[in-house]
Amino acid sequence: MSAALAQPVDQPVSRPAACPAAQRAAAHRHGVPGLTRRLASGLGATALFAALFAALPPAHAEAPLQPTQVPGYYRAMVGAMQVTALHDGQIQLDAKLLKNASPAQIQQALARMFRSNPTSTAVNAYLVNLGSRLVLVDAGAGRLFGPALGQVLANLKAAGYQPEQVDDVLITHLHGDHVGGLLTADGQPAFPRATLHVAQTEADFWLSEQRTAQAPEGMKPFFKMAQDSVKPYADAGRLKTFAAGATVLPGASAVSLPGHTPGHTGFRFTSGDASLLIWGDVVHNAAVQFPRPQVTIEFDVDGPQAAASRRQALRQTASARQLVAGMHLPFPGMGHVRAEGRQAYEWVPIDFTPLPAPASAAK
Ligand SMILES: [Zn+2]
Repeated sequence: MSAALAQPVDQPVSRPAACPAAQRAAAHRHGVPGLTRRLASGLGATALFAALFAALPPAHAEAPLQPTQVPGYYRAMVGAMQVTALHDGQIQLDAKLLKNASPAQIQQALARMFRSNPTSTAVNAYLVNLGSRLVLVDAGAGRLFGPALGQVLANLKAAGYQPEQVDDVLITHLHGDHVGGLLTADGQPAFPRATLHVAQTEADFWLSEQRTAQAPEGMKPFFKMAQDSVKPYADAGRLKTFAAGATVLPGASAVSLPGHTPGHTGFRFTSGDASLLIWGDVVHNAAVQFPRPQVTIEFDVDGPQAAASRRQALRQTASARQLVAGMHLPFPGMGHVRAEGRQAYEWVPIDFTPLPAPASAAK
């Protein structure tokens, strides 16, 4: 349908409601009553509508396309906590990176969810306002992977916060798309007051000089990204490590989900009866890995262990009806997991929900 045809059709519904007298006057100007009488006797409804639209004035101006998307943040309440999903950008994930399924099976899973290859995949971070502390979980890619990523800081500001307000940054794992955003363009800490929290196992692996030296050449850049991103915080005495399963902050406990990386960790935030599990990279490709949890990805340090952690996370979150957030789930990446038969699952995203009115305005 052309814009010229669409415009008159849209016009009546976009006008504010007029009083009956004004409607009669407008109808008279457009010649509608006379037409109606003549057409109603002999013509069908289709012809009547066509004649009505032809009688309306032509379009006045073409509206230009808008060049920007809405800001990449979304807020949700979890008990008394306010969680803000922050969009870092989109990466294009090639299906060639996926293992443990045939190309035909992967293609079928993508097509079923109206996805293509490469699959546009979100990179998300989450800002959790505990009331007493402002906590960021992961920081996006910063400048490590080009201009399609690196928007966490801009979206945090768009959401009404300043980086100086962040008290703690919890890291699910030390891959570049999760820690690159810890630094500004000139290599300074992007969150100048924050303490960085990393699982001990994760730090032992990626921050080890010995492991870096032993790593195959293709893996060495991953070690460098991890070390560079963490260094200014460590130098300032603001890098803390935690044990698997530890309470990292009041209301936030570590959930060990190893395999993707040795210390890969989810964080469960609890407020009263409500909780949110931010599970990091349990799922990279939602279309493929929910129905086929055994599918792993090239970046997994230990593929079989990653698949086992994923199966366990999917089973537990589905049966507990646990609210989940994931760094590579379609933005805002929050929702629930539903079991679909044996060892297959479906992702059920949350709906857009207005925030509750502030207590002072609720009277
Ligand atoms: Zn990732």
